[in-house]
Amino acid sequence: MDIYFDNAATTRPFPEVMEKMTEVALNDYGNPSSKHIKGVEAENHIKKTREILSGILKCKDKEIFFTSGATESNNMAIYGAVKAKQRRGKHIITSSVEHASVREPFLKLQEEGFEVTFLPVDASGRVDVESLKSSLRDDTILVSVMYVNNETGAIEPVEEIGEIVKGYNEDILYHVDGVQAFGKMEVVPKRFKADLLSASAHKFHGPKGVGFLYIKEGVRIIPLLEGGGQQNKLRSGTENVPGIAGLGVAADMVYDGDFEERIAKLNELRGHFISRVSEIDDIVINEADGEFQAPHVVSITVNGVKSEVLLHALEEKGIYISSGSACSSNKPGLSFALTAMGVSKDAADSTVRFSFSYESEIAEVDACVDAMKELIPVLRQFVRK
Ligand code: PMP
Repeated sequence: MDIYFDNAATTRPFPEVMEKMTEVALNDYGNPSSKHIKGVEAENHIKKTREILSGILKCKDKEIFFTSGATESNNMAIYGAVKAKQRRGKHIITSSVEHASVREPFLKLQEEGFEVTFLPVDASGRVDVESLKSSLRDDTILVSVMYVNNETGAIEPVEEIGEIVKGYNEDILYHVDGVQAFGKMEVVPKRFKADLLSASAHKFHGPKGVGFLYIKEGVRIIPLLEGGGQQNKLRSGTENVPGIAGLGVAADMVYDGDFEERIAKLNELRGHFISRVSEIDDIVINEADGEFQAPHVVSITVNGVKSEVLLHALEEKGIYISSGSACSSNKPGLSFALTAMGVSKDAADSTVRFSFSYESEIAEVDACVDAMKELIPVLRQFVRK
């Protein structure tokens, strides 16, 4: 039987999500902008998901904008903020461990003449807030930091960052990439003074290709897309109604009355995995201190074994994991996050990521570690020959 431990890359949609999407796609196929009943029915699904999300994020319905996923949400937030604020300044700040969908827009803006500060992180991957304090300037217009790192699961100090940024100047826009946090912890943008927050449905058992951007009421950003003016003119294009309905079902299921139990289960799986995997010689667990570590990700360095070799050896046994982060593993080169954490090239090359879902089981953890115990000594011998 397959063991899927790559849930930070994507999750299996809940069957209820697929049922809802099929039902909406087949029956309520109207264009939500149409004035007739078919349009109203479709629009109601969007409204419903907005209500679910505003309940979870403790925000207003009108602060939620649907996108094609977090890549779009991140791009929309960053380019939109910069375009809206560029007359005030050209300095923008992010961390050195961001997902490519944040890092690449910052690099592009740097090419276009913006001054970019990439904040350093400590050995556990957490942003150095002191360097943030000394980086802020009168011409800083945007700060973007992720909530949970996708490669290590480190929880960034988003609350402290919000205090510092807004304490320095209320006018600096603050964006948080919440992709790996949503569904794994409470995500309430007001608590950390965020103006903008991104998430993607497929990371929490929703469908792929749909996500949202929270935009705080009163915050003005310039839209990426010009067109029919949907979603208050901020995100033109006919909405992905079945996807949005599916996102709503997934979010509602994840944050229902059993939320705490689900998180406890993830913590139990993680704890069990770490205690068992520690039986293997010469491995390093890349993690942040207890309260700063997300429950669904374990990053380990298996010295003497290339991550891709281990990935494919486990794959042969029906166990699916990731080398570094799946989103960047199609590109050659080393993980930016691990490098920023001071991990050596060799160690980064030997680092793998296991990520659990609420559906993972302790028996699967045991089977995975047993397979590693059998494979790793053989793979190490093979490398040394
Ligand atoms: N940010 C983070 C932290 C992620 O892990 C991902 C997905 N790997 C994204 C953004 C992009 O999400 P999507 O691929 O759904 O657009």
